Amino acid sequence: MYVGRFAPSPTGPLHLGSLLTALSSYLFARSAGGEWLLRIEDIDPPREPPDAALAILDSLQAHGLEHSRPVLWQSTRGSAYAAAVQQLLATGQAFHCTCSRQDLAAGQHAGRCPRSIHPPSEPAAVRVRSAGGSISFDDGILGRVTIPAGEDSFVVQRKDGLYAYHLAVVVDDAFQEVSDIVRGRDLLDSTPCHLRLQELLDLPRPQYAHLPLLLNDDGHKLSKQTHATALDPDRAESNLRRCLRALGQELPPDEAGLGVAGLLDFAAARWDSTRIPRNDIPEATLPF
Ligand code: GLU
Repeated sequence: MYVGRFAPSPTGPLHLGSLLTALSSYLFARSAGGEWLLRIEDIDPPREPPDAALAILDSLQAHGLEHSRPVLWQSTRGSAYAAAVQQLLATGQAFHCTCSRQDLAAGQHAGRCPRSIHPPSEPAAVRVRSAGGSISFDDGILGRVTIPAGEDSFVVQRKDGLYAYHLAVVVDDAFQEVSDIVRGRDLLDSTPCHLRLQELLDLPRPQYAHLPLLLNDDGHKLSKQTHATALDPDRAESNLRRCLRALGQELPPDEAGLGVAGLLDFAAARWDSTRIPRNDIPEATLPF
């Protein structure tokens, strides 16, 4: 059974780049006759403006992207993340670390860092040792990918107690039995951490597909940080057409007037993931 998902962090409204991810994961799932889930990754309250999550839900609805099950809110999943951290500590795969970013920038832990499975009296992050070397996997868009495992360890729970994205995403993809993850290529560097955690927590490894990114006029990824404009729900059909064009997909004639639902039916029936470009796409090349 194909189970796909869209898992936005509610740090701002949806923009064309996030619609590209939502639409791609939706069309992959729909054309495979599978389910498409929506998970709101609200695990970092200081970065989440009030109402951002609701604005995302409204925007997805305006674009006709209907999910299959009730939304999973990560803010309700703390006990599952706590259990995963305990499991990693109990098996000696994780350790407490009191270092600051500057300490670690020097390439090693400070002498006073406990690096122990037992919590120290001062606030400490919990880190997991990376696999080291490089990691290879077969990506549904990029083909065989080999990337360095990255730093020697990564955070699964922050000093302030909040759980890290790497941990929550892996625990919940397994919990929801997600078979296929379709997401932006900006997260490719995170994939070694996710594969590592799946191995340590004895969770199945989903299939990954990393999408090209939409770039603004300065060549930067459209994102909340680069002030990408929020999607206008009144232009939903045009927004979807721009994303389909970016994905190299067949489009109905302009005058077809299919409406949002008709356009999604058309796109799902003709979905061809081999046409997705491998290179990032300047937004300016996508006419309205
Ligand atoms: N929540 C992440 C984000 O909005 C995406 C998680 C994922 O697709 O793995 O960037």
